[in-house]
Amino acid sequence: MQYNQFGTLGKTSRLGFGMMRLPCLEDGSVDEERAVRMIRRGIDGGINYVDTAYPYHGGMSEKVVGRALKDGYREKTFLTTKLPCWKVESRRDMDTLLDEQLKRLDVPCVDMYLLHALNGERYEKMKELGCQDFFEHALKDGRVRHVGFSFHDSHESFRKILLDYDAWEMCQVQYNYLDDEYQAGREGIRLAEERKVPVVIMEPLRGGALAKVPSDVQAAMDARAEKRSPAEWAFRFAGNPTGVKVVLSGMSDEKALEENLDIFDRVFPGNLTAEEDAFCMELKRIFLARRPVMCTACRYCQPCPQGVRIPEIFAAVNRAVMLDRREDFERSYAALAREEGDASRCVGCGTCEAACPQGLDIIELLRKADERVLTGGRA
Ligand code: SF4
Ligand code: SF4
Repeated sequence: MQYNQFGTLGKTSRLGFGMMRLPCLEDGSVDEERAVRMIRRGIDGGINYVDTAYPYHGGMSEKVVGRALKDGYREKTFLTTKLPCWKVESRRDMDTLLDEQLKRLDVPCVDMYLLHALNGERYEKMKELGCQDFFEHALKDGRVRHVGFSFHDSHESFRKILLDYDAWEMCQVQYNYLDDEYQAGREGIRLAEERKVPVVIMEPLRGGALAKVPSDVQAAMDARAEKRSPAEWAFRFAGNPTGVKVVLSGMSDEKALEENLDIFDRVFPGNLTAEEDAFCMELKRIFLARRPVMCTACRYCQPCPQGVRIPEIFAAVNRAVMLDRREDFERSYAALAREEGDASRCVGCGTCEAACPQGLDIIELLRKADERVLTGGRA
């Protein structure tokens, strides 16, 4: 296991144990005994950074983590959890939620406390409700040792949030070789490093899609002299920037845990050469070339008089085909249908095609999306 200095927090393992994908029983509940065993094995194997949050596993994650960290394991770890900002309507709610989380975890304090899933609008609301005053009090009374935020929004919002508050001690962002320019992106990580704010990476495998890759991506990896698994390429990419201190992975079984413990002997800042970084961008190009619809998401076709959410439908098609995950399309498309934005509502008026700068045959593409022709059949 590789370790590095994480601001004033201490020396953290490069691999962090994410607690949103714990092993589950057939009824969907967390397999507690197995999860506790796995968490302790991870810590014995060198992991000392544990990341949970209020909503993971319907609230069970924090309880299971609390159990796993008994018997001396709490002292061996840095424990992070997150304030569910969407549940906060007043300054008082912040204290109530933190106290509830400490109770679930059965600890008097957490090492790192984050505002969960910030975007520009949510941050403004939290500020108005007094999150900075809350942080000052929670730090002073010892319930929280350090504060930060996790983030999902545009690069511009990231910049604003990061520069707005001098007391941030970490930020958690989505980063992998498909998303190197998405949300905070490479630039955001560089900016955080410049501001001396340690970065924690989430979604390094993009929900598992970069661990089991399509055959053309695998063939490009196989042609290389160095033999690395798809997961190792993805983890090395995520852990490469010098500003990154921890790469989180949600590990649902013992095999993934052991593989990750092995890989993270080799993940450290600068673990990719410039040529290897360029190879990861080549992998991204192979993924992107798999997309069947060349929609740029410019939204000139919107709004459709029938409410058809054209860019969202095409994005769902492209994502599913690019990552070889048809079941993801079914989920996204069902959600669009519930919101009355699916392709079956199209009456063929042609307004969208006249507006599309890419000259796409939108009506035909929508029909093919609805009939699952583009995604190769129903999942
Ligand atoms: S052709 Fe279909 S999708 Fe396009 S604007 Fe008309 S109804 Fe909407
Ligand atoms: S106008 Fe064309 S390229 Fe732009 S979002 Fe609509 S379908 Fe995509």
